Amino acid sequence: MSEGSVRWQTATVIDIVVRTPRIKSFFLSLEHPFEFQAGQHVDIRLTAPDGYQAMRSYSIASAPDHGTSIELAVERLDDGEVSMFMHDVIVPGDEIEVRGPLGGHFIWSVTDGGPLLLLGGGSGVVPLVSMVRHLKAANLAGSTVPVLLLLSARTWDEALFRDELLEFNKEMSGFTFVLNLTREASARGQDFGRRIDAAMAADVVKRLPGPPVHVFVCGSNAFVNAAADSALAAGIPAETIRTERYGG
Ligand SMILES: Cc1cc2nc3c(=O)[nH]c(=O)nc-3n(C[C@H](O)[C@H](O)[C@H](O)COP(=O)(O)OP(=O)(O)OC[C@H]3O[C@@H](n4cnc5c(N)ncnc54)[C@H](O)[C@@H]3O)c2cc1C
Repeated sequence: MSEGSVRWQTATVIDIVVRTPRIKSFFLSLEHPFEFQAGQHVDIRLTAPDGYQAMRSYSIASAPDHGTSIELAVERLDDGEVSMFMHDVIVPGDEIEVRGPLGGHFIWSVTDGGPLLLLGGGSGVVPLVSMVRHLKAANLAGSTVPVLLLLSARTWDEALFRDELLEFNKEMSGFTFVLNLTREASARGQDFGRRIDAAMAADVVKRLPGPPVHVFVCGSNAFVNAAADSALAAGIPAETIRTERYGG
């Protein structure tokens, strides 16, 4: 189905959870539940009383098998039209329009195999968390794929889904979580505290049992450029690297 033919539907905000000082998760109950793959996104459309509309894309954080509701994690930009409205105005019970699932390039399923290298900056970790949650569900069903997620955040408190990922790191076979903090010293021995570079990419690649077969990079333009360049400089072939840019 082409993206243009995916229909709009009404979704009800059933819960809002503060994830970090600047990021909230919005749990949406779908009028028409859809199947999706880890890495896909939805468009949301807001309409003002005077008919003015604004539309933005948000990655789905939930595992693909989650059911009739989806989780979106939205970062509040102080001068951002839609993200500020979502954070400051939307409350549980509100309805918004949603269209999806969208995106057929930035997707991964456990049947695609690995090793898998995930590089996420800030809220760019959202589609990667969907992949890790998908892996967690597959793990329970007996499938294991080596996966390493490097999340780059400014500070410990701003690392989105940090506690869940730390927990997964302890309990999931084959999953490694590495945290890079750019404005604070790292708290764990295996983490980093600087901007991503080729040495960091080479270091995390060595922690996988073999060269990554799939690499997904997501975040701001600046992060994606730096992370993809670092991966290339670490010897990862360009054709294995897929990127998703959030702008900014
Ligand atoms: C596939 C995809 C998935 C995404 N997933 C997520 C996600 O999971 N979570 C998430 O938080 N974001 C995600 N994004 C980004 C999201 O779509 C929005 O871009 C983001 O929320 C900002 O929207 P906004 O309306 O708040 O900001 P906007 O109002 O669009 O502003 C964005 C930036 O542009 C600047 N700007 C606005 N107007 C002007 C102007 N006239 N002149 C100069 N500069 C201007 C603002 O200062 C701001 O910094 C995703 C994007 C894509 C493409």
